[in-house]
Amino acid sequence: MDHIDTTTRTGELIELENRYGAHNYHPLPVVLERGEGVHVWDVEGKKYYDFLSAYSAVNQGHCHPKIVGAMMEQAKTLTLTSRAFYNDALGPYEKFASEYFGFDKLLPMNTGAEAVETAIKICRKWAYEVKGIDENEAKIIVCDNNFHGRTTTIISFSNDPDARKNFGPYTQGFIRIPYNDLDALKEALKEENIAGFLVEPIQGEAGVYVPDEGFLAGASALCKEHGALFIADEVQTGIARTGKLLAVDHENVKPDILILGKAISGGVYPVSAVLANDPIMNVIKPGQHGSTFGGNPVAAKVAMAALEVVEEESLAENAQRLGEIFRSKMNELVAESDLVNAVRGKGLLNAILINDTEDSDTAWRICLALRDNGLLAKPTHGNIIRFAPPLVMNEDQLMDCVGIITETIRNFKK
Ligand code: PMP
Repeated sequence: MDHIDTTTRTGELIELENRYGAHNYHPLPVVLERGEGVHVWDVEGKKYYDFLSAYSAVNQGHCHPKIVGAMMEQAKTLTLTSRAFYNDALGPYEKFASEYFGFDKLLPMNTGAEAVETAIKICRKWAYEVKGIDENEAKIIVCDNNFHGRTTTIISFSNDPDARKNFGPYTQGFIRIPYNDLDALKEALKEENIAGFLVEPIQGEAGVYVPDEGFLAGASALCKEHGALFIADEVQTGIARTGKLLAVDHENVKPDILILGKAISGGVYPVSAVLANDPIMNVIKPGQHGSTFGGNPVAAKVAMAALEVVEEESLAENAQRLGEIFRSKMNELVAESDLVNAVRGKGLLNAILINDTEDSDTAWRICLALRDNGLLAKPTHGNIIRFAPPLVMNEDQLMDCVGIITETIRNFKK
């Protein structure tokens, strides 16, 4: 545990979480109470740039007035009906979002993990009822170092010991292959009973691993050739984060099943969705899948507003342009500093690799120094620091942040 001064308001609040909350996270010691656009403020009044955006959920910036307005308006009118009845917001949202992403239908859920579970269920059902695989034999190909959420089925095909250990017995029916390896995918697709390939277009949690150009297009073509569904988990990479609306758009790939979460709500409400065309989505019949909150009127209105903001404010274009600038500036830092080995990413989903072993606390201490200098980021997997600011950032703000990162690294004592 970190040493916490419990005489401050920050310390008091951290202590409360430590005492009464399960220890399933290890947050950076900063307690936030307000956010606006690219900034957040802590309980002591200190202002920061948010360079994580709640793991890319707050792409539209904190407390975006249009999105919060849509939520407040709807919250005063009707919040939840369950799907036992129709509501007047869901249909318009489903039409809007289906057209927005170019699919026949949408299935609404709440969290990213739930949407991944939904996609897995749809893929399996499609395999039995359309492809004709014998019941209980379907297999889904996944990648090493994947991150798709925390449910029992999803962690069953993770290879992260923290995510998996002592949570067994595990769900069967998954084959894991190396990421970014078309030959391995080709071999795996030759096995019997393959229903689909579930993949992150960029592996975010694993440390922002960007696959080679052509990987996604190649994988999609291989899936088509073998009659397997190409399932893109764009929970983190979607909604303009990587410089296009979807990361698969960089290679003009159309997934058979698209999984969205996080920024589909701009971070104001848990909203996730699975999109597919009729021959796939229609395998789900009444009673076979659902969620009390999925598709509630507040979620529907919030998601519509959040998606409108992405277009109205040209967030994909901004992410693309600022991302280029950011990586070129970080590359200057790589050239000058022994502490930073490399920068990688796409759009405004980036990471720097710190020159130290994975079990060192150097990246953590750099994040503490960044915090002291007014910028919040968090290490992922030991020595990697992910940088993912809200996409409403402007160039001046980005350069300000580049300055903070550069100075912090220059002055850092290992
Ligand atoms: N898929 C991916 C690619 C993710 O990055 C995440 C969350 N980091 C999830 C799924 C799970 O989303 P949630 O935490 O909302 O369940």
